[in-house]
Amino acid sequence: MLAHVLSILILTLCHANLVIPEKPSVSKIRDTSFTWPEGVDGAISFTFDDARPSQADSGLAVLDKLDVQATFYASIWSLTQRIEIWRDAILNGHEIGNHTLTHPCSANFDTSRPYRLEDMDLERMRYELEESNRQLDSLIGTKPQSFAYPCGQTFVGRGTQVQSYIPLVAKSFLSGRGWQDESANNPEVCDLSQLMGFPMDNKNFEDLKPILDKTMQESSWLILAGHDMGTKKELTTDLKTLEAVIDYVRSSGKNIWMAPVCEIAAYIRSQRGKD
Ligand SMILES: [Zn+2]
Repeated sequence: MLAHVLSILILTLCHANLVIPEKPSVSKIRDTSFTWPEGVDGAISFTFDDARPSQADSGLAVLDKLDVQATFYASIWSLTQRIEIWRDAILNGHEIGNHTLTHPCSANFDTSRPYRLEDMDLERMRYELEESNRQLDSLIGTKPQSFAYPCGQTFVGRGTQVQSYIPLVAKSFLSGRGWQDESANNPEVCDLSQLMGFPMDNKNFEDLKPILDKTMQESSWLILAGHDMGTKKELTTDLKTLEAVIDYVRSSGKNIWMAPVCEIAAYIRSQRGKD
């Protein structure tokens, strides 16, 4: 009984100075100067991370057959396992983006992980980005304009020393893409250095149909994100699902611009001026 009275007293004190905000008006943040190119109803980019061998061995052939160009955010060591195929991929119009040098993520994923975001600072991350760019240029002759945050995580450090490395990405690249996000991107307002990446691994067409329909209704930019390409295991985009998505979009009656991230991001930036 005493505990109950005390909790009511504490709640009352907590709320004594509470200011309830008024219901916001309906106006939206909006840059009405943005328009897609004439006749375009929205955009979709297909993106795949880590330069996994299955992408080079199976995925590229499907994309080339369907004449869809994608963005591949490359881990350097993995890329060196299929270097000629990746060189050809660039010639076929695919984009190779930066994904850091050592793919650092939180130690929570795996405490034996040698490169952990909690142990890094901004200088180390600057090295990760610059050295990866240098190696991609040297190995396959590309200068990356697009970046994907490994594990979708955007910080370095721990506790009071945590810092965001999004500003570094914003200075170094045209765009930065996240992972496990829940939405397409609104081209009128999206921060190009924090683009949402909607997962397509281990999904069938019916799983993806709602976000495809929403993207086409809202004329937004959907960035689908995957890892391995095939049928076998976790973190794998099923190639049948990929084909079904492309067929569905092409037969929808809408004119959806399917292109690598750098093309769509460059167009948005040209429309909006510098962020
Ligand atoms: Zn990755």
